[in-house]
Amino acid sequence: MARYTDAVCRLCRRESIKLFLKGQRCLTDKCAIDRRNFVPGQHGKSRRPRIQGYGLQLREKQKLRRFYGVLEAQFRTYFQKAFAAKGVTGELLLSMLERRLDNTVYRLGMASSRAQARQLVRHGHILVNEKKVNIPSFQVKQGQVIAVREKSRKLPLVQNALDLASSQGVPSWLALDRENFSGRVSGSPTKEDINFPIQVQMVVELYSK
Ligand code: SF4
Repeated sequence: MARYTDAVCRLCRRESIKLFLKGQRCLTDKCAIDRRNFVPGQHGKSRRPRIQGYGLQLREKQKLRRFYGVLEAQFRTYFQKAFAAKGVTGELLLSMLERRLDNTVYRLGMASSRAQARQLVRHGHILVNEKKVNIPSFQVKQGQVIAVREKSRKLPLVQNALDLASSQGVPSWLALDRENFSGRVSGSPTKEDINFPIQVQMVVELYSK
């Protein structure tokens, strides 16, 4: 499966926003956005392009896609599904991205980044309703219980991430049970839950051309 393997901090610098791709490092003063907030590349410092129209729509789409760590083809499929479904396309698109299993594991605090959450899922550490699911794009539904497999509960990365999540809290559509290394999907994610500055209408306009 294709995946992005270059330095991820470049993605944040390209979008001029923290995408929180590196876990706890993103919360420290080692964050590249805090130290070198200019576009990567030889002429990055001098390049301050004023973007508008198509350029602005493209940047919003890239920002959202990179935030969730989804490649272009899969992102377009999400858009097509949202477009074909009944409802507001932008909101449906955000909801689908948010309900990915890897994102849910990250939001519950079982991993400190979406990339780490994806690895936990891929390696079979995560159960959905007591059954192993190793597909990061699996869409969670209301009422489902996401848990760390018993054998994997001692993993330091899970312990550390959960300790941090317990103090920071989880979004309103999820309920964390720290004692049992699990969480329940108690509702549907809204734009407010996503807590990321994105103009999703621009993404819809870009793909609707
Ligand atoms: Fe982005 Fe995190 Fe790197 Fe900062 S440390 S630039 S938020 S990935």
